[in-house]
Amino acid sequence: MAAAWRLANAARRVTLIERRPYLGGRAYSFVDRDTGQQVDNGQHVFLGCCTAYVQFLGEIGTVDRAARQPSLRVEVHSPDGRGGVLTAAPLPAPLHLLPSFGRYPHIGWRDKARAVPALLRIARERDREREPLRTQSFGDWLRRQGQSARAIANFWNLIVLPTLNDDVDHATASMGFMVFQESLLKDRHGTDVGFARGGLSAAMGAPAAERLRERGATVLLGATAARLTVEHGRARCLRLASGETLTADAFVCAVRDDQLRELLPDGAIEVGKPHEWSPIVNLHVWYDRPVADFDFRAFVDSPVQWVFNRTRIGGLPGPGTYLTVSLSGAWEWWPMTKDALRERFVPELARALPQARAARVERFIVVKEQRATFRNLPGEGAWRPRQRTRIPNLFLAGDWTDTGWPATMEGAVRSGNTAAAALLASPRSVS
Ligand SMILES: Cc1cc2nc3c(=O)[nH]c(=O)nc-3n(C[C@H](O)[C@H](O)[C@H](O)COP(=O)(O)OP(=O)(O)OC[C@H]3O[C@@H](n4cnc5c(N)ncnc54)[C@H](O)[C@@H]3O)c2cc1C
Repeated sequence: MAAAWRLANAARRVTLIERRPYLGGRAYSFVDRDTGQQVDNGQHVFLGCCTAYVQFLGEIGTVDRAARQPSLRVEVHSPDGRGGVLTAAPLPAPLHLLPSFGRYPHIGWRDKARAVPALLRIARERDREREPLRTQSFGDWLRRQGQSARAIANFWNLIVLPTLNDDVDHATASMGFMVFQESLLKDRHGTDVGFARGGLSAAMGAPAAERLRERGATVLLGATAARLTVEHGRARCLRLASGETLTADAFVCAVRDDQLRELLPDGAIEVGKPHEWSPIVNLHVWYDRPVADFDFRAFVDSPVQWVFNRTRIGGLPGPGTYLTVSLSGAWEWWPMTKDALRERFVPELARALPQARAARVERFIVVKEQRATFRNLPGEGAWRPRQRTRIPNLFLAGDWTDTGWPATMEGAVRSGNTAAAALLASPRSVS
């Protein structure tokens, strides 16, 4: 969407081909048939550091469909009733975190005293892509800095698990550094939390299709690209699954790496080893009464990771409450049936939310995304191609291409922007 948007704005004749009947890819919403409410396939959050994504929303005219914190405020509770809050004080970064970190109740003062020098080492690191950081896990690096299991579980992983969709022991130290540097340590507003108020598709896919068409682009929905023909070193034409063939001067492929392999002739460009993927499971729970007085809250010492109060966020009518429980790195939960997840998590939610104890669950649905995000495993390093390829009129986009960012909407938009810029700058691909 981002690549098409940039190219349409540069007066190129653009055709966007999407095999699903809507735009948005891995970030979309649907209407729940029982409640009639918009359900996101997975709770999507963006942070203050996601500048390209926010700019994209601004350009397609939907930035007001997202709630954005003026300043970081994340409540972190444990089921025993202890509550803490991480906020940004009016101090220059990274000092802005110190006051609330000092009061944070889920790790002891010794752990905090050890965490501060580790955070400062991360803040001072100028080359987070260097070999030792790419080949070791963030967890190993943290343990070398004297971080205890409790500090890792209740502070470091609180941030790494939802942002990298992986545990500190499975993410490279490079990516761990990236997350802390870009969100928490560089800028006081880098961690301000934002999310779509009323359905991801209303904030992104649907308006993007509308704006693109207004700019003269052709948006083909429900059309599957089957094969890209490459002749004499140039991409020539695209065959759709319907049998139709489209020719173009230049192509941007914005599909996942495994999907790209199917599209291209063998060896046309280097596509690398297939990525491994991490699953995300979202539980959507409707209660018959108010059960939560927050927009969102994180939990420690509980399998409930992050809870979003969709009734408050979306301004939905009461008296019931619609909660989304977002479970990242969800290998444990992925194989479980809906009933088993309900049996496991409804009591956990009652432990975490006192008001839920007497409430009745009126509806419970589960959305599992097996290939939610690619992994940045230590040692292997996620191989990520640049957006410009050796075929002069073929460009790549997608969160998995080389953006320096983890699998995020920000990474996806950045990749699209870079692919479009490369295409526009390329003398070999005419309009
Ligand atoms: C449950 C879940 C929660 C997430 N949470 C967050 C979050 O909180 N914050 C965040 O920033 N990111 C989050 N992400 C990640 C984010 O959704 C992705 O990083 C981003 O959407 C990737 O965009 P993309 O354009 O690179 O790829 P995709 O969204 O996968 O888009 C690729 C598109 O190509 C289409 N396609 C594939 N093959 C073909 C073909 N042959 N012909 C035509 N079309 C084809 C697909 O249908 C798809 O629409 C989450 C993802 C999931 C699944």
